This record gives sequence, C-alpha cells and structure tokens, in this order.
Amino acid sequence: MRLILLGPPGAGKGTQATRLVEKHGIPQLSTGDMLRAAVKAGTPVGLQAKAVMEAGGLVSDEIVVGIIADRIKEADAHKGFILDGFPRTVAQAEALDVMLADADMKLDAIVELKVDENALMARIEKRAADTVAAGGTVRADDNPDAFKKRLDAYRIQTAPVSGYYAGRGMLKIVDGMAPIDDVTRAIDAALA
Ligand code: AMP
Repeated sequence: MRLILLGPPGAGKGTQATRLVEKHGIPQLSTGDMLRAAVKAGTPVGLQAKAVMEAGGLVSDEIVVGIIADRIKEADAHKGFILDGFPRTVAQAEALDVMLADADMKLDAIVELKVDENALMARIEKRAADTVAAGGTVRADDNPDAFKKRLDAYRIQTAPVSGYYAGRGMLKIVDGMAPIDDVTRAIDAALA
C-alpha cells in the first residue's frame, strides 16, 4: 500500500503513521525525520535546512523531492510506504506523480487528518512537556513562534495539496480531533 498522511503540524500524523507501519509492515517516510537526521549529522542538506526548519518555514521543494526520490527506491519501500509530511506543496505533489509514474507505482490513498487549529498549539505544548518528562530533547521548532509559522506554511502552501488530491477523487478525510484509537479505526475504515 502507498499512502499519504496529510494534516497540519500536531494533527497526529506521526502517531497514526507508527500504527500503520505495524499494521501493514511498510515503512513510514517522514521528510521531517529525515531532515532532522541530516541536520544532526551536519550533512550539506542538513546545513541548508537547519535555519529554515528552526524558524518554521518550508525547506525547498528541490531538497525534499530529492530526498523522497532516493528513499522510495530503497528495498524496504518496494512493498509500499506511508508518506508523512510530504508532499507539503502542490509542486511536491506534482513531482511525486512524476517519480511514481517513472517507477511504475501508484498511490492507493491520501488520508487527511482534519483538526481544529485552536487545539494544535495546546497539543504541541503537551508534546514538548511529554518529551521533557521522558528525558528527551524538545524539537527546535516546537515553540510558539516557530509553530505559528509552521501553521501559516500549512495554511498557505500545504492546504492546496488536499484540493489537488480531492480533485482526483483520492482524498479521504478523517476527524483528527477524535481520541487516538478512534482516529486509527477511522483510517482503517477509510483504507478498507
Ligand atoms: P515535520 O516533522 O513534518 O513537522 O517537519 C519539520 C520541518 O521540516 C518542517 O517544518 C519543515 O521545515 C521541514 N519539512 C519537512 N517536510 C517538508 C516538506 N515536505 N517540504 C518542505 N519542508 C519540509
């Protein structure tokens, strides 16, 4: 199965992706995780991406499209994958279409988690507090200023991606405000 999880930051894409990984035995391809790893490793991509990520902006289409084009060719992605955090612009969605067509692959579904924006800041604050309580390090962009910019980027650049897939009859919308297990069930139903 090849699946895209769409939704604003803090919508629960990562949590649901982890469950889908277990259920379907396919990898979660999170551009955010891959970029954070690149930043940590100090690679050329990481060096380019660091400041824009910390400020809550979007890394260039060219960089993220390159990352995904390489990643979907890896052996573990042959059976399928869950894209989490990609595509985030219509240009990325178009580039994804091209790379999938070149690889003779098709998307099975696009699931969007719909959430009330007002609830997102509280979720992000909780994520930061939970991370600290667990002895971890809070993401550099999980602070109110960067989060506001991430929401703006979502509204302006990523929300049109939903329309891109809706126009093709591929978009399935799930209520992301429901309890986590209910969201999981709704996703399973949408994919059945
Ligand atoms: P995430 O972990 O998905 O919230 O992503 C964290 C940050 O990584 C985002 O705020 C962006 O700066 C960057 N990022 C992740 N995925 C993309 C993407 N598809 N396009 C552009 N920037 C991205």
